[in-house]
Amino acid sequence: MSDLKRVAIIGAGMAGLTLARALGGHAAVRIFEKSKAVGGRMATRRIDDVSFDHGAQYFTIRDPRFRDMLDAAADDGVMARWGADIVSLPILSSDDRSPVDTARERDPRYVGTPHMTSVPSWMARTCDVAFDTEVASIRHLAGAWVLQTHAGDVGPFDWVIATAPAPQAAALLPETFTHRKAVLDTAMNACFTLMVTLRSGADTPFAAARLEDPVINWISRNDRKPGRGARPCLVVNARPDWSDAHLSDPLNILRQNMLAALRRHVPLDDDEADSAILKRWRYANVARPAGQPFLLDSSQRLACCGDWCIAGRVEAAFQSATRLADALVPLLKEPAE
Ligand SMILES: Cc1cc2nc3c(=O)[nH]c(=O)nc-3n(C[C@H](O)[C@H](O)[C@H](O)COP(=O)(O)OP(=O)(O)OC[C@H]3O[C@@H](n4cnc5c(N)ncnc54)[C@H](O)[C@@H]3O)c2cc1C
Repeated sequence: MSDLKRVAIIGAGMAGLTLARALGGHAAVRIFEKSKAVGGRMATRRIDDVSFDHGAQYFTIRDPRFRDMLDAAADDGVMARWGADIVSLPILSSDDRSPVDTARERDPRYVGTPHMTSVPSWMARTCDVAFDTEVASIRHLAGAWVLQTHAGDVGPFDWVIATAPAPQAAALLPETFTHRKAVLDTAMNACFTLMVTLRSGADTPFAAARLEDPVINWISRNDRKPGRGARPCLVVNARPDWSDAHLSDPLNILRQNMLAALRRHVPLDDDEADSAILKRWRYANVARPAGQPFLLDSSQRLACCGDWCIAGRVEAAFQSATRLADALVPLLKEPAE
C-alpha cells in the first residue's frame, strides 16, 4: 500500500488545479468539483456556435513560475497573448469612479485559446478530478477527514484543502480551523455578466472598453480574442457596487437594466437585445483579501488557498496555491499519527 498522504482538494479552479499539480508525486491527490467542468471563474459559455468567456476576461503573467507553466500551455496552443487595446469610454454620470490601475494596464494580457477554459482543461490532464461532486461538509472521523457529498461520504483523507471562494470555504471548514477569522473577514463582490450575440458584420469601435457608467464597467468583443469564432458577440460586466446592491433582484429586471446601460454605449437592434443572457456570479471579485498568501492549519491538517487570499486575479490564485504547496510538501513527509 502507498504511504503517500491522501489529500482532498475542494474546487477545480486555477487554485485547486495548481495545487494538485504541485503536490503530484508528493501525495495521493483527488480534487472534488461541484460543477461538470474545471476552471471555476475561468469560464466559457457556449450558445449555439458562439462562445463567451463570461468569467475572467484575461490574465497577466508576472510571476516566473506562472510564466513557466504558461509557456508550456502556449507551446500546446491553449494560451495566447491578447494584444487588444482597452479603451476608456466617455464618462456619462458616476459619483463613484474607481481609479484605474495604470501599472496593471501596461502589463501584456493573455487568454486561453480557443476558450478561457482551455488553460484549466490543459492543466487538468494530469489531475484526478471528481466532477458533479459538491462537498457539503467535512468531518473528522477516526483520525482522518471524511467529506460529505450528495453521493455519500468519501475518504478518509489526511489533509483537506478548500479552494472555493471565501464565503463557501467558511461554510465548509470546521469552527476550530485556526484561521477561521481571516476567512470570515474576507469580502467578495458579486458580478452580473451579460452575453449578447450581435448580427453578422456588426462593428464596434473597440475590442474592449472600460466604462465609467453607473451600471456597467466593462464591455469586450469576445470574438476579437485570439482563436474565437467569427460571429460578433459582447461580454458585459456590471459594476461590483451595482451587482452587490442588486444581488437578489429578479434576473429579468437586471437584464433589462444592463441592456439599457449597454445601449448608452453600443447601439443594439431588437434581435441583438433579445439574444442577451445574464449570468450571476455571487462571488466574483475580491473586495477585501485575507492578506496572507494562504491559510494553513498544520495541527488539524486543513488549509485554504485561492485568489481571495491575495487579490481577485487568475495569477493571484496560482500564486496562492503555489505558495501553499511550497509549505505543504515538507509536511506531507511527516509520519502518520
Ligand atoms: C466576471 C468575472 C470577471 C473576472 N475578470 C478577471 C480578469 O479579467 N482578470 C483576472 O485575472 N481575473 C478575473 N476574474 C477573477 C478570476 O476569475 C479569479 O481570480 C480566479 O479564476 C479564481 O480562481 P480560484 O481557483 O481561486 O477560484 P474559482 O475559480 O472560483 O474556483 C473554485 C472552484 O471551487 C468549486 N467549488 C466551490 N464550492 C465547492 C464545493 N462545496 N464542493 C466542490 N467544489 C466547490 C467551484 O465550482 C469552482 O470551480 C474575474 C472573475 C469574474 C467572475
